[in-house]
Amino acid sequence: MTLLGLPLDGQVAVVTGGSRGIGRAIALALSEAGARVVVNYQHNKTGAAEVSGLINGRGGRAMPYGADVCVPADVGTMIAATLQRWQRVDILINNAGVTRDAPFARMRDDQWHSVLEIDLTSAFVCVQAVLPAMQQQGYGRIVNVASLAGVAGNVGQVNYAAAKAGLIALTKDLARELAPSGITVNAVAPGYIETDMIGVVPRRHLAWALQAIPVGRFGSPEEVASAVRFLALPEASYINGHTLVVDGGWVMP
Ligand code: NAP
Repeated sequence: MTLLGLPLDGQVAVVTGGSRGIGRAIALALSEAGARVVVNYQHNKTGAAEVSGLINGRGGRAMPYGADVCVPADVGTMIAATLQRWQRVDILINNAGVTRDAPFARMRDDQWHSVLEIDLTSAFVCVQAVLPAMQQQGYGRIVNVASLAGVAGNVGQVNYAAAKAGLIALTKDLARELAPSGITVNAVAPGYIETDMIGVVPRRHLAWALQAIPVGRFGSPEEVASAVRFLALPEASYINGHTLVVDGGWVMP
């Protein structure tokens, strides 16, 4: 038996899009580090309930919560429920995201606007919702899940690349604005990770990408989650406004 507690003991985390993929792995990783976790979902109630059940079954504490991260009223209700249940919110992981790929010349307005809304505006909405609580606590960790596409661009993803680049810029701006309140804001930028999201990427594109990745494989959700967990720890206190690329060495500046 150890006398030392877990690093996130007593803390509360909200993980958007926690029902599957990378968000699921983040919810589990934060819980293993001691946090109580709100597992947000939009449609996949079963997935979020499964993740929460797994955490609660292991002796952690989690609650699934359905909310569209683009809708301020939904997000406000989710954060109010979090505060009512656990009285604080220390960590916000803006992970929910989608792709709607098409070559630029054929991209429709709805593909452009929906991706900007879900992958970028959602972070604005969610940070606004948690900010009063974090400022009152004088402490917070916000981690935004961006993408390598937002760093380097990616053919067929002008909407997604623009949204994720915007998310990186939002990260840097908020890192400056919120640091005086004891809140750090960072991002992770994953390369290709084995989730539902890459199921729609053409096979020949994945084969091309694979031969360019030095470690010779795509990443796992758990490998992204460990980077997110690190940035969410109290000890990451002097890392602020940073984008941590998690891509097996694919793109090196
Ligand atoms: P995924 O398996 O497709 O899961 C997406 C998650 O986002 C789901 O939990 C989904 O909820 C949620 N979501 C989507 N729209 C939402 C909304 N309006 N409100 C609330 N939740 C919403 O994707 P993933 O691969 O885990 O991606 C997670 C994040 O990593 C995204 O931001 C993505 O852009 C980023 N990323 C992924 C990769 C990759 O290769 N996989 C690479 C770079 C970055 P439901 O299950 O309820 O629908």
